[in-house]
Amino acid sequence: MAEAQASRPPVVVVGGGIAGASAAETLRREGFDGRIVVVGDERALPYERPPLSKEFLLGAIPEAKVFLRAAEEYGAQDIELRTGTRATRLDVAQRRVELAGGESIAYDRLLLATGSEPVRLHVPGADLPGIRYLRTLDDARALAAEIASARASGGRVVVVGAGFIGAEVAADCRMLGLDVTLIEALPVPMLRALGAEMGGVFAELHRAHGVDLRLGEGVAAFRGAGRVEEVVTTSGARLGCAFAVVGVGVRPATEWLRDAGLTLENGVVVDCFCATTAPGVFAAGDVARWPYMMADATEPEMVRLEHWDNALRQAEVAARNMLGQQTPFAPTPYFWSDQYDWKAQYVGYARTWERVVVRGRPEDGAFIAFYLTGGRICAALAVNHVRELVPLKKLIGAALDPARLADAGEDLRGLSRQR
Ligand SMILES: Cc1cc2nc3c(=O)[nH]c(=O)nc-3n(C[C@H](O)[C@H](O)[C@H](O)COP(=O)(O)OP(=O)(O)OC[C@H]3O[C@@H](n4cnc5c(N)ncnc54)[C@H](O)[C@@H]3O)c2cc1C
Repeated sequence: MAEAQASRPPVVVVGGGIAGASAAETLRREGFDGRIVVVGDERALPYERPPLSKEFLLGAIPEAKVFLRAAEEYGAQDIELRTGTRATRLDVAQRRVELAGGESIAYDRLLLATGSEPVRLHVPGADLPGIRYLRTLDDARALAAEIASARASGGRVVVVGAGFIGAEVAADCRMLGLDVTLIEALPVPMLRALGAEMGGVFAELHRAHGVDLRLGEGVAAFRGAGRVEEVVTTSGARLGCAFAVVGVGVRPATEWLRDAGLTLENGVVVDCFCATTAPGVFAAGDVARWPYMMADATEPEMVRLEHWDNALRQAEVAARNMLGQQTPFAPTPYFWSDQYDWKAQYVGYARTWERVVVRGRPEDGAFIAFYLTGGRICAALAVNHVRELVPLKKLIGAALDPARLADAGEDLRGLSRQR
C-alpha cells in the first residue's frame, strides 16, 4: 500500500483556509500516508477568519492567536504547505493544477477549497486610499491601523453594508469609541439571513449603541483629496469620514476554474459526497454548492454557506470521501456572530419561512427566534443562550406546537427529546 502510494502523484488541496487545512489534517488522521500538498495564495499560515472582525479588531487577542497551528506542526504531519502560491488553472483531463509562475503540479485527488472573496464596489472614488474591506489577516491589520489613527483624531467611520461583517465592524468601532455611520441598501441589517423581524431587532441594537444607521441607502461615490474624506449616498447625503469599510458580500473564488469543465453555479457544484463531476476532484467550504436536506424534507435544496463550521465539517467529510469512503455530508448548519454583548447563534437553514416564533424578549438581550415552515422548525436564532445550542440543533426539522416554543417555561432539552 505504502509503495503503491509512493509512486502516485500527491493529494493536492487548493486553498489554505480552514477548509483546506482541516482536509489535509483529516487525510492524515484517517491514515493516508502519501504526499499532501496544500497550495494557498496568502503568505500567512492557515488562520481563523472569525476573530478578525471580533477579538482581533478589538485588540482583545494578540495576532498569534488567530493561527490554526505553528509551521512545525504541519511539518510534523508531513503536510507540505505552499503558501504565497496561486493556482491559475485546472486541467481535469491531465489531472494537473497550473500555478502562477508557470509551474504545474499533478494530482491523484484534488480538493478545491478556495473559499470566497469580497465583492468590490465600483463607484466613483472606490479606489481611494482609506476604503477598507475585511477578508484577510492583511485586511484586518490595515483596518486595525485605521481604527487606531481615527481614535487618536476623534474621527468618524462610515461602514457600507450591514451584513454580518459590516455589523460586527460597526459594533467594534463603537465599542472602541468611534462615531459610526452604518449604511445598508436593504430595509434592515442582515435581512437575507435573519429576515425583516429579527433584522429589525438588530437595527435597534445598533441604534441603542449610538450607531447612525441609515437603511435603504447605497453608495453613489467616495470623495476625497488623495484619500477618502466623504461617502456620498444614493439619496445624496454626504457623510464625512476618517476611513470607510465596505462589507457588501462575498462571491465564491472560482475565477481560476472558468475553463475547467466543472459545473460552476454560484460556486463549485458538488454532490452529497462533496464530489464534483470530474474524477478525483472534490470541493468544500465557502466555494462549494451542495445539496442540503433538511431533516424530514423530501427534496434537497442546493446551498452555498459562508460559515466557519460548514467549511470545517465539509472539508473533513470531503477528505474521508477522497480516501474512498462514501460518507454523505448532512450537517445541521451553524454560525455565530458577536455584536456588542450579544452572542448570536444560528442553527439550521431557511431561505424562506412562514412565521417566526419568539421565546423571550429581545429588549431583555436574551431570546430565541424559531423560523417555521410547513409547521416545522427550519432554523433558530438564539441570542445570549449559548448553552441551548445542542437542544436547538436537535429541534431543527421538528414539528412542535408554536405556543410551547414561545413558552420560556418549557425546557428546550425536554422539547428536543420529544421530537
Ligand atoms: C472577518 C470575517 C469574520 C467571520 N466571522 C464568522 C463567524 O463569526 N462565524 C462564522 O460561522 N463564519 C464567519 N466567517 C466566515 C468564515 O470565516 C468562512 O466561512 C470560512 O473562512 C470559509 O473557509 P474556507 O476555507 O472555505 O475559505 P477561506 O477562508 O476563504 O479560505 C480560502 C483560501 O484559499 C485562498 N485562495 C483563493 N483562491 C486561490 C487560488 N486560486 N490559489 C490558491 N489559493 C487560493 C484564499 O486566499 C484563502 O486563503 C467570517 C469571515 C470573515 C472574513
